[in-house]
Amino acid sequence: MNHCEVCCATKWSAVGTIYRARDLPTAVEGAEATLYRCDGCGFRWIHPTLDEEALLAGYRMIEAGAWGGAVESDHIERRQFVPKARLLASLAPQRHAALDVGCFRGDFVSLLDCEERWGIEISSAAASVARQRGVNVIEDNVFDAAPPREHFDIISCFDVVEHVTDQRGLAARLADWLKPGGIVAIETGNADCLVARAMGARWYYYALSQHLCAHTARSLDLAMGSAGLELVHCKHAWHQPPQSQLRAFAYVGTALTHRVASDILVSLDSACIVPSPVMNLAKRPSPQHYSRDHLWRVYRRAAG
Ligand SMILES: [Zn+2]
Repeated sequence: MNHCEVCCATKWSAVGTIYRARDLPTAVEGAEATLYRCDGCGFRWIHPTLDEEALLAGYRMIEAGAWGGAVESDHIERRQFVPKARLLASLAPQRHAALDVGCFRGDFVSLLDCEERWGIEISSAAASVARQRGVNVIEDNVFDAAPPREHFDIISCFDVVEHVTDQRGLAARLADWLKPGGIVAIETGNADCLVARAMGARWYYYALSQHLCAHTARSLDLAMGSAGLELVHCKHAWHQPPQSQLRAFAYVGTALTHRVASDILVSLDSACIVPSPVMNLAKRPSPQHYSRDHLWRVYRRAAG
């Protein structure tokens, strides 16, 4: 890469080393990679990542209960899908057709009060469940799928942008699928949130092997703006609200302690004074530490 894929800046810096989780069947626990940060827009990317074939193979093997849990109603409650569906309905000019990019089991798109409900999903098991719920599923990845152009009043695209490498290309496809005046809602991790900045390269979000990058509010607005999509609503969100704020603080505290201890051990490792079992623990992904660490932003295609 010789420039940032979002803002085209030519200056960036290495943030630190990532130790991967084995969260896809094709991923390797503890594999090392480097996190980079664009000096222009703050966009983060990771190198090296799983190659495209390994990623696609991993996605295809995901079971329908793997992401979001086995109970759909619990997932809908945790992800606050009902108020999100209400908000999108209030912002959309019409409600003829909706498309959920990465619809998985169709948990979200099934809630939208539209005549047509479409989804793009690569997991065969999850796509099968969505079809049983009446969702018109295109079983493919987002860059090969070809839903009708200028057809959708509402597009949702939750937990997807961090899985792809061509941010401007994705934005162009989303804009092309929207009717003029239609809206697209994006949910993704916020690389500029307090906990992400405190954790550096050890933020849990970067350790997830299917994540190739992370946005800031500025970089996401620039990527969507490159396709003519204008911001109409935004908030900082929990991906899943915690059972208690106290528990969330405890998890973040544990993760920060792990980060400091592991950084010290890794720096001592060059002197060969750390036993290998201890180093293996230091190079494990950080313990779970969720916070209000997601962007939730809605964009509109110009009406005319
Ligand atoms: Zn940039």
